Formats: sequence, structure tokens, C-alpha cells
Amino acid sequence: MANADLVILGGGSGGYACALRAAELGLSVILIDKDKLGGTCLHRGCIPTKALLHAAEVADSARESDAFGVRATFDGIDMPKVNEYRDGVVGKLYKGLQGLVKSRNVTFVEGAGRLVSPNTVEVNGEQYTGTNVVLATGSYARSLPGLDIAGRIITSDQALNLDYVPKSVIVLGGGVIGVEFASVWKSFGADVTIVEALPNLVPNEDIACSKALERAFRKRGINFSLGVRFASATQDDHGVHVILEDGKTLNADLLLVAVGRGPHASGMGFEEQGVAMERGWVLVDERLHTNVPGVFAVGDITPGLQLAHRGFQHGIFVAEEIAGLNPAVIADVNIPKVTYCEPEVASVGLTEVQAREKFGDNVATYEYNLGGNGKSQILGTTGFIKLVQQKDGPVVGIHMVGSRIGEQIGEAQLIVNWEAYPEDVATLIHAHPTQNEALGEAHLALAGKPLHAHA
Ligand SMILES: Cc1cc2nc3c(=O)[nH]c(=O)nc-3n(C[C@H](O)[C@H](O)[C@H](O)COP(=O)(O)OP(=O)(O)OC[C@H]3O[C@@H](n4cnc5c(N)ncnc54)[C@H](O)[C@@H]3O)c2cc1C
Repeated sequence: MANADLVILGGGSGGYACALRAAELGLSVILIDKDKLGGTCLHRGCIPTKALLHAAEVADSARESDAFGVRATFDGIDMPKVNEYRDGVVGKLYKGLQGLVKSRNVTFVEGAGRLVSPNTVEVNGEQYTGTNVVLATGSYARSLPGLDIAGRIITSDQALNLDYVPKSVIVLGGGVIGVEFASVWKSFGADVTIVEALPNLVPNEDIACSKALERAFRKRGINFSLGVRFASATQDDHGVHVILEDGKTLNADLLLVAVGRGPHASGMGFEEQGVAMERGWVLVDERLHTNVPGVFAVGDITPGLQLAHRGFQHGIFVAEEIAGLNPAVIADVNIPKVTYCEPEVASVGLTEVQAREKFGDNVATYEYNLGGNGKSQILGTTGFIKLVQQKDGPVVGIHMVGSRIGEQIGEAQLIVNWEAYPEDVATLIHAHPTQNEALGEAHLALAGKPLHAHA
């Protein structure tokens, strides 16, 4: 039996961030994970997919080199080598994280844990009791009823382990994970078709971003069927055969099921200990307390955005809450989001539709076209930055599309979270020539003094 101020179940983004911050604050921490420290993000999510997307960008650069006057040829993808590069990146970060956890004197326990009392987790017959317990067991790739994950029907977990580039892929789901894999495979030379039940790709984004991504994907030769549901799928030696509800049949080597992620919160004693749950999610109040005193939950098992940096922030918040620092509540709406396909989509704050629901006609928008941005022209990308402002008030939403535009989310989230007015940003200087300048230009225009733009 071991005791600590905090026992954390799950060592992914939410759990390990909580452990690191709590240890920094002088609390004793036991961190439990049945798998590798770092969780989904490091081993099966953010980092490995972004490594693949970078390899995809290199492939596109080689293919398009002639347009820049560079003589190079694209001879294809060596998938085992791509995977070696990806594993190298993951491996270095994993080693660094293990060192960090060790250096802060966090006790890491390897094994599957179960909540056996409101303040005790049992792992391999050993009990770990905390003054506080933090649930951080993450999420899993969902499928649809009747669609078994096996053989040619895969989720992102198997997609990341392929040692070849499929000739053709059907991607079920046009959300973040679906469009990122579609983008990678297209760049790697596969024939890709996305099927999305809702009327647009990346349906959680501002409609202007969805439309721009659809145009860009069409231009790239990525096929998609929107507003149509999947009916059934079969597979044989020749491939996978998907039937849509409109009667259309699609055939491909693989079917990637990317229809969202569900909470990984059942079968671990949470319900038995009285933790309130709804449709599998662990319910928390805005301060991330569950209904059971001393039990908190963070990250993907709580309803809301499923993002690593939300998990980090949740973890830090709970550590500070337990230490009595009264941290500021985190609202999902102002958490920055980036979709790393080509072109990238990045946003923070309210979409235009959400702003109109909140402020009625009291909303102003401005769209700055990257056609006027020098660096974007150098990179050869199209796209835009759209600002949504509460009329005569702060900027409440920023929505961007373009190659590499995700890097601009840093300033965008400062603007929205600090409730800056266009006039505040218009006085700040943006270095030339950068894509960051486009953010400055958009705010200059919304403040009524456009420079390289029409009013
Ligand atoms: C393909 C893909 C790409 C993604 N890309 C991005 C991205 O670019 N940016 C971004 O912000 N987010 C991205 N995400 C989402 C991100 O990975 C998650 O939001 C994040 O990992 C959630 O952190 P978490 O701590 O809640 O859960 P997880 O990271 O899932 O960690 C949960 C941990 O709990 C452990 N665990 C579960 N049950 C038990 C048990 N009984 N006992 C012990 N341990 C247990 C698991 O082994 C795991 O390590 C991506 C996800 C996927 C799948």
C-alpha cells in the first residue's frame, strides 16, 4: 500500500501534465499507466501523425520542385524509412518525457489500474491511495455499429503502423483525423475518397474554412462524398467494398474509420465508486471535480474538445486547484485548434454563425486573402484569415486556411483570449515578409485602415 497527495490514473497528456505541475508545487504524486508514458498524443496521435504530414510535405515539395526552378525527381515513398524517421521523433520525445517525470520525483507505476474506493487505485494487486485521485484514461477510436475493425478496415491506430502506401483508401469521416490521413495518403500517391455524413469537411470549423478546404482538396484530386451516410462494408482478398446510403459503391485497398473518439472510461470501477457518467463520459464541473469528493477527471474522458493541449491545461488546472491556487477556469471555446492537412486549417473562438447566435446583427467580419501576403505567395499557397468581431468590440473568432497557417494560431489565440480590439492589434508590428503579417493586415483592415488590402 502506497500513499500520495495525488494518484493519477492515466499517463497521457492530461495525466502527465497534472503529475509534472503537482510535483512542481511540492505535492507527492503516483502516476499509473498500463502502456507507455505519453499516451495517445505521443505514441498514436499528434506526434506520429504530424511526422507523417511533414514527410508528405517533403514529398509534395519534391514533386512540385520544378515550379521553383529546382531540379529534383519524386521517386516514391519508402514507407519503412518514413516510419523510422517518425519513430525517431517519438523516441526522442518519449525519452525526454521519462527523464522529466523521473527528475520531478513522480512515482511511475506500470500496469492497468482500477478504482477500488473513491481514493484508491489498485494495480496488479497493489493499492495506491491518494488524498486526491485524478482520472485521465483518455479515449479510443470509435467505429459504427456493424463495422468491425479487422483486416482492411482500420482506425488511426493501424493506419500509423502500415509499412506500405495503399493504392487506394476510403476515409470514413471528414473530421480532423480523417482529413489529415487523407492528406498524407494523397501526397504519398494513393487514390483517396472521403465519405462524410455532414454537409462539409471539418464540419466543426467556420463554414468559410470548410469550403476553402473542400476547394483545395478538390484541386489536389482528393475525392469526397458529403452529406451521405455509410450503409455497409465488406472485404475480401481484392479489397474493401463500401456501400453508401445513396446506393453508391466505393472500392479500395483500405477503409479508414475516422468517425470520432469515445471516452475510455468503462470497466475501471468508476461507476461502482459512484462517479457520475453520461453516455460513457465522466462528468465534471467547470473546476474539473467529479461528483465524488476528491476525485477529478481531465482530458479526453470529459465531454468537450479532444485535444492534447486541452489535456495539458486540464492537468495543470487540477494540480493547481488541489494546491489551493484557485486557477482560472478553462473555456473550451477559446482553445486553439489546428488541422494539419495540406492546406492547414486553424481557428480559435467563435465561428461567424456562433457569433451571430450570441450577438445577433452586432457582428463584423473581415476576410484577408493570402493572395496579398508576400510569404504566402513565396510558398505558393492560397487561403485566408477571417476575423469575427463583436461590432465595436473585441475580436471573438479567428479562422485561417493556408499552407503552414497553423503556426499563426499563437498570436490568434492571444488576440481572442485577451479580448483584443482590432485597433489594439493594428498598432502592433508584424515582421515582413511573414505569413504572420496577414494577421496584422486583417486587423488593420478591420480597424478601418487597410494597407495591402481593399477595405
Ligand atoms: C490520430 C490522432 C491524431 C491526433 N492529433 C492531435 C493533434 O495534432 N493535436 C492535438 O492537440 N490532439 C491530437 N489528438 C488528440 C490527442 O491525442 C488527445 O486529445 C490526447 O492524447 C488526450 O490526452 P488524455 O491524457 O486525455 O488521454 P490519452 O493520451 O489517451 O492518455 C490516456 C492514458 O491512460 C492510460 N490508461 C487507460 N486506461 C488505463 C488503466 N486502466 N490503467 C492504467 N492506465 C490506463 C492509457 O494507456 C493512456 O496512456 C490526436 C489523436 C489521434 C488519435
